[in-house]
Parts: sequence; C-alpha cells; structure tokens
Amino acid sequence: MKKWFAVIGDPIAQSMSPDMHSHWFAKNGLDAVYIPVHVTADRLEQAVRSLRELGCSGWNVTVPHKSAIIEYLDDIDPYARKMGAVNTVRVMEDGSLFGMNTDGIGFVRSLEEQFAESGKGQEVLLIGAGGAARGIGYALVSEGYGPITCVNRTYAKAERLAGELHAGTMPIEDAAEQIAKFGLIIQTTSVGMNFAENGMPLDPARIKPETVVCDIIYNPLETQFLEQARKAGGLTMNGVGMFVHQGARSFESWTGMEPDTKQMIETITKKLGGI
Ligand code: NAP
Repeated sequence: MKKWFAVIGDPIAQSMSPDMHSHWFAKNGLDAVYIPVHVTADRLEQAVRSLRELGCSGWNVTVPHKSAIIEYLDDIDPYARKMGAVNTVRVMEDGSLFGMNTDGIGFVRSLEEQFAESGKGQEVLLIGAGGAARGIGYALVSEGYGPITCVNRTYAKAERLAGELHAGTMPIEDAAEQIAKFGLIIQTTSVGMNFAENGMPLDPARIKPETVVCDIIYNPLETQFLEQARKAGGLTMNGVGMFVHQGARSFESWTGMEPDTKQMIETITKKLGGI
C-alpha cells in the first residue's frame, strides 16, 4: 500500500521539504507521497491525532510546533528531550509516535561535508539562542566541537543556553570586538531571512582570514552577514546543506535508506537562484 508522509507548520506553503522528500522517494523506488499540511497552533493536538488515525507513516515538524508537539508524542529520543524540540516524528510498528531532532546533526554533517573537520579544535562563536541554536549547540558538543561561546540579542537566553552546553557567554558587542579569536562562527538568528529584515546580528568585518563562517539561513543564499564575512576573507557556508542533511536524517529514520544529499544541495541552490 502507498505510504504517506507530511510536514506540518504555520506557514507551510514555502516549505521545500515536499519537493525534496518526494524526489528521494521516487529516486529510491519507494511508493510514497509527502505532503505539506497547514496546522495552526490551536489545532496541533487534533492534527497529530488525525495524522495517526489516517495512517501517516511519519512527518516533519516546523515553526511554530517544534516544542509544542512534544506533549502529544509517546516517546522522544534523549537528545531531542534535552533540546526541547522535535522536527521529525516516526510512527512505530505498534502505532506509537516517536520524536527526534535532526536539525543540529544536519548542520554538523553539512559543515563536515564542506570543510571536513577543520572546525574541530577551533574556538566557536554561536550567534543566537533560539531553537536552531539549541539544536546546533547540542550537536556541536556531542560531536566534539568547542570551546563554544554563546551570544544573543537577549543576553539572558545566551546565558541559559551557555549554561546547558557548559559553554561561555559574553555580550554580543564584546564578541564583535573579539571576533578575530574565533575560528568557527555560526549565525543562527533570523536576521536577514527572506530579504525581509536586512542587517546583521554583529559585524564580521574583523574576522581573521580563512575563518569558517556559517549562516543557517538559505533564502537568500547569501545574507548580508555572509557577504561581509566572505569579503573579509572568511570561508563561508549557507543553510542549504543543513536543510538537506536534516531532511536526509528524517528520510533515513523512516526508510532505512540514505538519500543523495550532494545532488539535492545543487538542485535547491539552483532553485534559489544560485549556481
Ligand atoms: P527562533 O527560535 O525564533 O530564534 C530566533 C533567534 O534570532 C533568537 O536568538 C533571536 O534573538 C534572534 N533574533 C531575531 N530577530 C533579531 C534581531 N532583529 N536582532 C538580533 N537577533 C534577532 O528561530 P529559530 O528556529 O532558531 O530559527 C532561526 C533561523 O534559522 C531562521 O532564519 C530559520 O529559517 C533558520 N533555520 C534554518 C534551518 C536550516 O535547515 N537551514 C533550520 C532551522 C532554522 P532574541 O532571543 O533576542 O529574540
């Protein structure tokens, strides 16, 4: 019987997950479809019940439901529990719902695909303290990166995340002053997303050359922050790779198959106007 998968969020029309997973299902000879489902916050519980009852085999979870969905799942992996966020649900054989988070490890896989392990042993500056920063922070620690310094517009949130990660913290203005000491800089705030909000969370002009600088935003492909970092001699990476690798981990958990990430990164980059 044909299987079906989904992504739930609000908004959801802009999601590239349906195209990506549908391509992978076809490429791997699997008889399955993947659809976007618009779910508002007040209907999340009902939506989870319906997905289960209608035989959905698994789904991705995006903004704003990554934390709220936890209470409707039967079990979640310890890593997602620590982060307090789930982006992948797998329906187990007994019908129970198991939650995971593949965002952080997706980022690390993307980083290592582009730069091997050259970020290891470097001082890491993690900018932002929202859901994405939490996932990436936990993945960096578990994969042996660091020492990490967390900075954020709202200092208390940076302090809280730093406490959980056993990392350092400082006011964001101080990080801009001391930016040359970091060998790996990861921008996880929403500043610069969708061209809506221009600007930068901090100025990367004084980085040391060949610093690895990542911005997890992928639309636009090059934010103002990434452009300035590149002009200052940084080796830059946008968020397309993270997006594809988090999806690949979800796909693997549902199917046991490893999809082609390299070609998908190229396809999405072209779709977003890159080469
Ligand atoms: P979130 O939980 O809402 O966190 C937003 C973060 O951005 C917070 O640290 C917030 O700081 C900061 N911020 C927002 N507006 C700011 C401003 N004007 N100046 C300075 N800081 C500001 O969001 P999220 O889920 O972490 O997502 C963050 C970004 O990552 C989004 O652009 C999202 O699209 C992207 N993302 C990409 C991928 C991928 O696969 N490539 C995956 C997940 C997320 P405060 O704490 O001070 O509010």
